[in-house]
Amino acid sequence: MAMDALHRSLGVHRVLEPAGVLPQAAARLDADPRIGPDEVRIAVHRLNLDAASYRQLAEEHGGEGDRVRAAVLGIVERRGKMHNPVTGSGGMLIGVVDEVGDDSPLGLEPGQQVATLVSLTLTPLRITDGLARWDGRSEQVPAAGTAVLFARSIAAVLPEDLPQEVALAVLDVCGAPAATERVVHRSGHRPSVAVLGAAGKSGCLSLAAARDARAGRLVGVVRDEREAAALRAARLADEVVVADATDPLAVAAAVGPPVDVTVVCVDTPGAEHGAVLATADGGTVVFFSMATSFSAAALGAEGMAADVTMLVGNGYTPGHAALAMDLYRHSPGVRSLIEPRVRAS
Ligand code: NAP
Repeated sequence: MAMDALHRSLGVHRVLEPAGVLPQAAARLDADPRIGPDEVRIAVHRLNLDAASYRQLAEEHGGEGDRVRAAVLGIVERRGKMHNPVTGSGGMLIGVVDEVGDDSPLGLEPGQQVATLVSLTLTPLRITDGLARWDGRSEQVPAAGTAVLFARSIAAVLPEDLPQEVALAVLDVCGAPAATERVVHRSGHRPSVAVLGAAGKSGCLSLAAARDARAGRLVGVVRDEREAAALRAARLADEVVVADATDPLAVAAAVGPPVDVTVVCVDTPGAEHGAVLATADGGTVVFFSMATSFSAAALGAEGMAADVTMLVGNGYTPGHAALAMDLYRHSPGVRSLIEPRVRAS
């Protein structure tokens, strides 16, 4: 592929500053809704803010909905994308395909309901309704506006059998079960697995994926007794234990014998050292949480002389969307944990 075509396919032509970086690294994107021949315009219906991003904004603004809404509008206005400058994370969106450039390779057609599976941190976005229908108190944001997909973006046509809010929530975290499945498969004979944040959306999907991939002992680590009761009722883990994921000694004590694989699905910072301590030598930690400090993880493992492989939870794995939707459809336990979260949002 010629260099110009590669740059365009990645969206480099939409970067306003600093020039020459990829859209995800950009401070500001051009969110002009007029599309080029290889682009697709989406009429936006709903944003799903990344859990770590929403939590950070809610905490910064004391949970006051109006201030959170103003903050999100300000970020999108300033950056041409919903890219939280503190957490560095975004989320994703759903909408209807509005216009497809003649040379777009994405195979989309106008009128299709889609979810974008590339992060909002690199998606040119313009909001036109001032987020007037959002109270600022949930990760899911009813919105009107436009978003632009590049030739190398990914979008999934929304399934017709599930409510849009559910599809959006599941697709947002679909990289977690896919990464877990892959690591369990690669870890040899029936590895033991612990999931931190196991009663959350990505956490319960990761537990279900680990079980389907024939993991051995499955431990779900949750924040409190309320979540423990919900996770026990969901029957997704062999052991459910309560520990603050940011307290390394408590996590290690709660997990007990170190596991072969630990998946970090909490939405708060500070879970790096507990995850490393809970993992056996030669094991693997998957840091799916965007609240992870990768320097804290690396230096912490070194400081504990822990011989663990640490993986950044890539949001993309081939087939990740279909895998997550299937887990949701076929696992009553997953549904029992995700549905109330979606209803509350
Ligand atoms: P979620 O549904 O809110 O689940 C997070 C869970 O962690 C909740 O059950 C939460 O409990 C629990 N938790 C928070 N702090 C804890 C603590 N100190 N100790 C124990 N448990 C704690 O979040 P999600 O949507 O699954 O997202 C989880 C993470 O995935 C986020 O950090 C998000 O940024 C990340 N993510 C990554 C990608 C990627 O591509 N890698 C894509 C999307 C999302 P409470 O509900 O009681 O607070």
